[in-house]
Amino acid sequence: MDETFLRTAYTFNNRTLQSIADDLGCSRQNVWAAIKRYGIKHNAEKWIAFTCDGCGKLGSMLKTQFVKSTLHFHGKPCYTQYQHSPEFREGRAAERIARVTIEEQNKINRI
Ligand SMILES: [Zn+2]
Repeated sequence: MDETFLRTAYTFNNRTLQSIADDLGCSRQNVWAAIKRYGIKHNAEKWIAFTCDGCGKLGSMLKTQFVKSTLHFHGKPCYTQYQHSPEFREGRAAERIARVTIEEQNKINRI
């Protein structure tokens, strides 16, 4: 199955698996298997390529998700590793202090 044809039809023309299968004269499952094999994603304009802030590998995510955060990770292990870094803990120090202050304030109010 031709990768360029598949990529164009599935990613840029947003065609369904069934309509591609009809053109090629094969089953929808065959088209799906080829798309998985080539790693083709549906609707490419919605996706963005980025470099993982954890390990530096290339990854892809939805643009709508990408703009929501300043740091980007390509998977949970990279994010978990970042959470244990001193850099992350320092950034959360103010939150921790605020939480303790509010708890103390609530105790005083209850008395
Ligand atoms: Zn990573």
